[in-house]
Amino acid sequence: MNCRHCQSPLSLPFLDLGSAPPSNAYLDEAALRAPEAWFPLRLLVCETCWLVQTEDHAGREQLFTDDYAYFSSFSASWLAHARAYVEAMAARFALGPESRVVEVAANDGYLLQFVRERAIPCYGIEPTASTAAAARGKGIEIVERFFGVALAEELAAQGRQADLIAANNVLAHVPDIDDFAAGHARLLKPAGVATFEFPHLMRMVAENQFDTAYHEHYSYLSLIAVARIFETNGLQVFDVEELATHGGSLRVFAQGAGGPRPVEGRVDALLARERAAGMETPAFHAGFQAAAERVKDELLAFLLDAKKRGLKVGAYGAAAKGNTLLNFAGVRPDLLPYVVDGNPAKVGKYMPGSRIPIVAEEVLRNDRPDRILILPWNLRDEIRSQLADTAGWGAEFVVAVPRLAIL
Ligand SMILES: [Zn+2]
Repeated sequence: MNCRHCQSPLSLPFLDLGSAPPSNAYLDEAALRAPEAWFPLRLLVCETCWLVQTEDHAGREQLFTDDYAYFSSFSASWLAHARAYVEAMAARFALGPESRVVEVAANDGYLLQFVRERAIPCYGIEPTASTAAAARGKGIEIVERFFGVALAEELAAQGRQADLIAANNVLAHVPDIDDFAAGHARLLKPAGVATFEFPHLMRMVAENQFDTAYHEHYSYLSLIAVARIFETNGLQVFDVEELATHGGSLRVFAQGAGGPRPVEGRVDALLARERAAGMETPAFHAGFQAAAERVKDELLAFLLDAKKRGLKVGAYGAAAKGNTLLNFAGVRPDLLPYVVDGNPAKVGKYMPGSRIPIVAEEVLRNDRPDRILILPWNLRDEIRSQLADTAGWGAEFVVAVPRLAIL
């Protein structure tokens, strides 16, 4: 396989999680009687451009299906993040009724609803039918397509260029990252700005976040790699912010090549920190497999010990990262009988691979487990306060990443 950006042959391994089904392929009752497609889940590092990437086996049409179950609006902290983003961008770039905001991967309209509230014209681009329908229900126009140069040129030809393109948590999820970046360059007005948010590879490695690896997450990004990819595709990075979301993310601000904005000092400062961390060397990438295996061993030891002691364990949060962890560790319903989730679209379904049932919150309150394993560790504070009443029967919260810990 060759690098999805620079086409150099890939040979340096970063992480090998064996094989797994697509992490958002939740199963219904009927699917339990059918075989499931598992695909190898391996990440490699390009030693030319240092892009960390999955080995591709599943096409995006197999991953982002019409009943795609991820609805952004079910996370309160993510909604607050989106609202704050819209306020900050509207102020910084003086957006108003004459402007146009476009969101790529608009999901269920969780972000554009705040743009609409400010009477700023906007539309979203979203390929999955279920979330697009939810966005339209909020009165938001959705172009139901995958984004790239072809679509950007169609939209530009219709005079629908953007002052601001929001691409939050999608850059890492596109197989053809060059076409995706180049599409932004085509869709921006001459002084337009595109912002991209993605989990920061530096934090992923520092904090053992191997469970953020899944097939739909094609690229694991540093600013070094992103700046290079953008430059090749007509975009220039002019600012960067570090965010706490998803365990540590970057928000990168880009303009078209030759755009009017000066490059902020923060860009060079972060590039220098990434180089100092060794992100352009094999050594930076070498210890990650062992870190993942340690998390797996600790989780299994915890679950086996709980079973031996007769303690009841339940999990909370049927998130993609939970599927990666449970399938890598080989956890099945005998060790973890259910996963609770607040999203009604997931309740009644089963986790892909592990086939652990997803149940509503009331099950937790009836079953009264002794330990609650929080799978989306990035939302652990939100989940703990939401489930504060579980202390009433003495339940303790547990996370597996970065190390197994009772909270
Ligand atoms: Zn490369």
